[in-house]
Amino acid sequence: MSARVALVTGSNKGIGLAIVRALCKQFQGDVYLTARDVGRGQEAVASLASEGLTALFHQLDISDLNSITTAAAYFKDKYGGVDVLVNNAAIAFKVADTAPFAVQAEVTLKTNFFATRDMLTHFLPIIKAGGRVVNVSSFVSSRALNQCSAALQERFRSEDITEEELVGLMQRFVDEAKKGEHKQGGWPETAYGISKTGLTTLSMILARRLSKERPHDGILLNACCPGWVRTDMAGPKAPKSPDEGAVTPVYLALLPPGATEPHGKFVSDKEVQPW
Ligand code: NAP
Repeated sequence: MSARVALVTGSNKGIGLAIVRALCKQFQGDVYLTARDVGRGQEAVASLASEGLTALFHQLDISDLNSITTAAAYFKDKYGGVDVLVNNAAIAFKVADTAPFAVQAEVTLKTNFFATRDMLTHFLPIIKAGGRVVNVSSFVSSRALNQCSAALQERFRSEDITEEELVGLMQRFVDEAKKGEHKQGGWPETAYGISKTGLTTLSMILARRLSKERPHDGILLNACCPGWVRTDMAGPKAPKSPDEGAVTPVYLALLPPGATEPHGKFVSDKEVQPW
């Protein structure tokens, strides 16, 4: 049997690095810190080594399809697949950023929704039986959901929304933002929030699909919020340290063998949240 392996996207700093740190301590198998920039990734691996922890490194830029497929082929070849995948990489414009909303919508959705979806498209088929998939979303995913029109909320909450329909809705948000028509379209003024509404909804869709298509594999897939965490993204005033922010993602990544839930849920502080 191949060795067990866990990988975390965007883990050269912030919450991703803290997730790798915790997995190095708790996961029985190889742990991969991945980063789009090799130098920043290797520096982070070295910083963990100075704490006495061993993480391995693989380059992975989730916005680059070639990087995704190269990494997926590597893990398939070397480990027969992946046991734990944490989709953590994301971007956020600062509140003070003056980039037009149209640009923020396109750029934010590109990484946080479309690129994360590409990761899931290429990695879900190689998640091993008993695997755990964690999508790091945010509490703002449900806040933005609640600010959407009633018609959009109904679709995001429905059990029958397909991946194709969701992708169409996310593309519609970007297109309407570009035309300055997103408010008429029923969307709130938050690109980051909608990118995460999309990611949480996608997690629920893919979990339902896994249950249907691989019912005996016992894979658990969830979205979560790490809380408000002191990182480059959220700034120094947030209450949680990165290690504290890692607690819920790591809890979901290490749900014990044989567990049947949570699955397809949005989880915060280790508790399933309403959607
Ligand atoms: P962060 O400190 O800004 O770290 C983000 C990480 O993602 C960095 O390693 C960054 O790499 C990486 N990344 C960005 N684009 C990438 C790409 N295309 N390919 C690969 N890696 C990429 O942010 P954070 O606060 O730790 O956030 C981690 C996750 O938690 C995100 O999903 C975020 O939305 C979520 N979250 C954070 C908070 C919070 O309060 N901090 C709250 C709710 C949810 P580079 O160093 O190369 O830029």
